[in-house]
Amino acid sequence: MKVHLIRSQGYSVEDFNNVLNLLRKHRGSIEYVPSEPIILPESETEITYLDKKAFEKKDTRMMYSMSESRSFFEKKITFPHSVPVLTWDQLFSVCVKFRTDNDIDPKDHVMLLSDIDNTHNWFGGIDSSLKNYFIHTNNWRHYLGSSIDDRFPISYVIAAWLLRSLMYRSQSEIFDNLHTTPRGCLMDLCMDKTEIILKMRTGDICEDCMQAIADRDVNLSYVRQLIEIIDGLRENILFRQRSSILMQNSRMEIRGLNKNIFLTELGDLQINLNPKEKALYLLYLNHPEGITRSYLVDHKSELRSYYAILCSQPSNKMIDQAVERLTDIIDNNMNEVMARIRAKFKIAVGEEQAKDYSIVSTPEGTHKILLNRELIRFLN
Ligand SMILES: [Zn+2]
Repeated sequence: MKVHLIRSQGYSVEDFNNVLNLLRKHRGSIEYVPSEPIILPESETEITYLDKKAFEKKDTRMMYSMSESRSFFEKKITFPHSVPVLTWDQLFSVCVKFRTDNDIDPKDHVMLLSDIDNTHNWFGGIDSSLKNYFIHTNNWRHYLGSSIDDRFPISYVIAAWLLRSLMYRSQSEIFDNLHTTPRGCLMDLCMDKTEIILKMRTGDICEDCMQAIADRDVNLSYVRQLIEIIDGLRENILFRQRSSILMQNSRMEIRGLNKNIFLTELGDLQINLNPKEKALYLLYLNHPEGITRSYLVDHKSELRSYYAILCSQPSNKMIDQAVERLTDIIDNNMNEVMARIRAKFKIAVGEEQAKDYSIVSTPEGTHKILLNRELIRFLN
């Protein structure tokens, strides 16, 4: 089974790739295929949420009208909050067009990761073919604060929708079977969108839903792979929430020629440092004793060797200039680069934990990375 993950142009490629990595960690017969960025149709509608409460509610009216049997960084959102929205039909039509343009097998699933809000304010949705989906990529910080990286809930919502498409025969059957009272099950409706955290922490599938899976002769290898994703996300969330109390850091792997940095116990979360940030980071990783600012200049050749491998600068002159600026004591460049590294770790692991992973200044006036070096592994 192929799942084409397509992203709107406004959803960053780094975040997209991290979601893809999380999903691909659990191997099986579901294959995730990434696409080039897609330009979404123009929004013709704007929705205004008058207050926080309205913003956190899913609009379920359309769900009932579709259902035959019963004839929704860091920037704080202020209210009233107006956003351009796309209708569900507009979002599904992007999937349909992608199918036509790329001659996609009708059996394949197409999932649009969209940064534009949708008319009913849902985390994601499925069309009547049970093969086209949209997933909303924004506003997670509003619901979950900085305690959980956006990539986890997005991956959760993707796995949950795929599982639902396997469990039921029609869109209305899915809506009919959503649990209006939260059970901590993947079929919880989460009318109040903040309730999603309960679902993710429990990572559970209730007895009724397990029965629904058993009743429908679904390919169990697909179900197994999706449940593994949900279990993995649950473990990452619990690890992250407990790590600050238990003072426990994740293992770090630095992989390949590009020295990509992954936090393996946090769902293999990649920390996306650019070449300059990464070169400085590698230097400090290699010097657990720390380096005093005024002595950084003594490490110029080591820093240069990292940067030369990582960057795509064509000339030695440009590499030399970048390293000069970084080590120049009267230039603020090093502080800027350190602040960017810290900000990236903060998003990934939370403010408290970020202090252990970032380059921090000590009372003695040196800079160092506190992370226990036994947690770090270099893989070629
Ligand atoms: Zn359930």
